[in-house]
Amino acid sequence: MRRIIVLNQKGGVGKTTTVANLGACLAEQGRSVLMVDVDPQANLSLHFGIELERGEPSIYTLVRAEHEPADVIRVTPVHGLHIVPACIDLAGLSVELAGRPDRLLALRKTLDGIPGAFDYLLMDSAPSLGLLTVNAMCAAGEVFIPLQTEFFALQGVGKLLRTVRLVRRNMNRSLRITGVIACMHDARTCLAQEILNEIRGHFGPRVFETIIRKNIRLAEAPGFGQPITQYDPTCHGAEDYRALAREVLAMEAALRRPLGQQDPVPFARSMAG
Ligand code: ADP
Ligand code: MG
Repeated sequence: MRRIIVLNQKGGVGKTTTVANLGACLAEQGRSVLMVDVDPQANLSLHFGIELERGEPSIYTLVRAEHEPADVIRVTPVHGLHIVPACIDLAGLSVELAGRPDRLLALRKTLDGIPGAFDYLLMDSAPSLGLLTVNAMCAAGEVFIPLQTEFFALQGVGKLLRTVRLVRRNMNRSLRITGVIACMHDARTCLAQEILNEIRGHFGPRVFETIIRKNIRLAEAPGFGQPITQYDPTCHGAEDYRALAREVLAMEAALRRPLGQQDPVPFARSMAG
């Protein structure tokens, strides 16, 4: 199973949109996908029309062992796509964990206990690098970083990379940054093109070739509780996320090969470390 966290402490860069629609496109390609909402704002859950009351089965009650995995995993309208939803209670988890010796690994332990053969575990994260997000980083094998191709795109990225490096050195040696995703790209502006070049200069071949264009349909879909593949299967947004899914799937073969025999492809190297 590939465990991917979609990470950027900046809000509004396309994390939730990417988890929802990449998840749907991977499922469309026959993979079994579990999305986990690790943001107390619960935007990913809302994207699939799930709005929880306090105490209802969620990632929060799962970590607290109040519910079993079977209680919290929900199916979505997309075949093969599942979700563990969140609610605002999750905001309190950091404080509750603070005194526990396993505070950094609580989520990892919880997710390790999920039975069933999922090919992909996709985690959405909150716009912060706090304890909750570090828990998700400890539970992941790969980091995808969405960046908006607008001014300030790279602001804060240094801090993000330092945090990934810290987690990798101290808690999770297998964590790798395997992909950077250019999101909400407006190809009509010179600035967006310049920023894209800057991102490619900074991250080199780790940047996915697929660029997620700005597309209003992507912003509308959550209001209908659907991923883009269902809301408007032929729009640019659906095309772009399908292309991204194909690139993500193309990495699988290389990742399966033993270390040392891997292609010198971008994802075999690591930003962190
Ligand atoms: P984050 O999770 O990083 O905060 P979101 O995925 O919620 O970011 O995106 C922020 C806003 O931008 C949302 O309203 C979303 O619908 C919209 N959005 C995301 N990607 C696109 C896109 N490619 N084109 C147009 N709107 C987008
Ligand atoms: Mg979000």
